[in-house]
Amino acid sequence: MTIRRLSDDTIGQIAAGEVIERPAAAVKELLENAIDAGATRIDVALLDGGVELIDVRDNGSGITIDDLPLAVERHATSKIGKLDDLDGLRTLGFRGEALASLAAVAELRIQSRAREAMAGAELVVRYGTAGSVRQIAWGDGTAISAHRLFENVPARRKFLRQPATEAGYVARTVGAYALAYPTIAFSLEIDGRRTLTSDGRGDPLGAAAAVWGAETAEQLAILSTPETAADGFAVGGMVSLPPLDRATRQQQFIFAQGRLVTSRQVATAFEQAYHTLLMVGRHPLGCICLSVPPGRVDVNVHPTKSEVRFADERLMFSLTQQAVRTTLLERTPAQHIPTIMSAPLADAQVQRRFALAHPGYALASVSEPEASREFDVPLVDPDQRAGGRILPVLRVLGQIASMFIIAEGPDGMYLIDQHAAHERILFEKLMAQRQSAAPDRQLLLAPVVVELLPRQHEVWTASREDLDGFGFATDEFGALNIAVRATPAGLNVRDPAKALITVLEEVATGGRGDSRLESL
Ligand code: ADP
Ligand code: MG
Repeated sequence: MTIRRLSDDTIGQIAAGEVIERPAAAVKELLENAIDAGATRIDVALLDGGVELIDVRDNGSGITIDDLPLAVERHATSKIGKLDDLDGLRTLGFRGEALASLAAVAELRIQSRAREAMAGAELVVRYGTAGSVRQIAWGDGTAISAHRLFENVPARRKFLRQPATEAGYVARTVGAYALAYPTIAFSLEIDGRRTLTSDGRGDPLGAAAAVWGAETAEQLAILSTPETAADGFAVGGMVSLPPLDRATRQQQFIFAQGRLVTSRQVATAFEQAYHTLLMVGRHPLGCICLSVPPGRVDVNVHPTKSEVRFADERLMFSLTQQAVRTTLLERTPAQHIPTIMSAPLADAQVQRRFALAHPGYALASVSEPEASREFDVPLVDPDQRAGGRILPVLRVLGQIASMFIIAEGPDGMYLIDQHAAHERILFEKLMAQRQSAAPDRQLLLAPVVVELLPRQHEVWTASREDLDGFGFATDEFGALNIAVRATPAGLNVRDPAKALITVLEEVATGGRGDSRLESL
């Protein structure tokens, strides 16, 4: 076999095959060019799935008459000068390949007028052969149309699907960009029928209504950058709120630095954030827009630029998951919270930590009556005193984060704060002991003398007998001083003085029980 040089035409067609694999890829390139040109309106039209015609018009900055022949030349771009420029890239394009590729496999017509120019210009390139530039009267921006795609590459045409399927891919692409760029008014016409119109007023949910319908848009939440994100990292876009879901992942879009990409990490993080919130086999929909500082992402790893390489994939994973989870937890209505829990000791921080670790489950403190009212299952208070409701019989299912016991009861699932439950058990023990004739005491080797405040001493005087019943043994030691001789055995008291003061102070300041005895 001898080695021969391929003709420029053949080189062009091979290269074109990589960039323009199907009509949707061509549309993506043309949309990105319009966005790079600062367009605020982009209109797309298709005939026969894009095979007969792809037409993209914008009101962007336009191309000068002198630049027009260069625009369709391979590796000619106005966007970068050298490879280093990629690090600070602010545009979607940079390879100068799209128009040249499209011109190699279609009849390409470009009509444009640069903003400052008096007249417009037109150039037609038929399957790699450029005509001459001619002046035309032209309003605003640029119109680029590709006729009879792949007519000169029958092999490639054969790989195209039915026109309706190809049109569907295009619609998905245009929809994605409409979601990610709510300040641009997009429209799509398929075989003369208008299928999408976004108003470009900058409201992301307005754009979502244009793409997915008003009803769906009402069940979305806007993402915001997690507080923990480092400088230069940002998350935007919108995601569906359960129970809204889809049978496929087709309506999940990921944008990185403003371009539609695929990223397994980000997609997984997105889905995982819905864990327990959606049924198995159902998928959320959404558009996640990530930006990272220049130099933290390589956009030049794929012919259609549809893949990017993040410098820190794991960071992108957690950033996405955090953004989606936080939003879901903030926005998931209380009636969808499947599990009810009461945790008397859970402060706001614990609740938040729990909520982040266990999306879909709420940890409500019974000291917040308004919180408990939000739930459709009554809260059960494990801290309730004797005589109140008690916990029903529960079947223990497992344990989470060695902090919570998960159990099944007559009216649903229970998450039990282990720490609170342990306290409760001790409480019951102490109450039971009090009834017995001889409470278990831990005798001290030597009595410990404690100096009390007057209000503590008052409580001691009033509660001496009850303290005795719990297993404390205390004696008067002159003035405000008390001698502690024994402590309740079950409590494992390490510092008898502190234990006694804690008890007395608790009662002195009101206590948490229904009676002084319970507070003790
Ligand atoms: P790239 O976008 O990578 O630069 P393209 O082949 O897509 O390469 O476009 C080549 C050049 O043509 C661009 O750099 C830009 O200057 C110009 N161009 C293409 N489309 C438009 C448009 N819609 N509006 C203004 N200029 C455009
Ligand atoms: Mg481009």
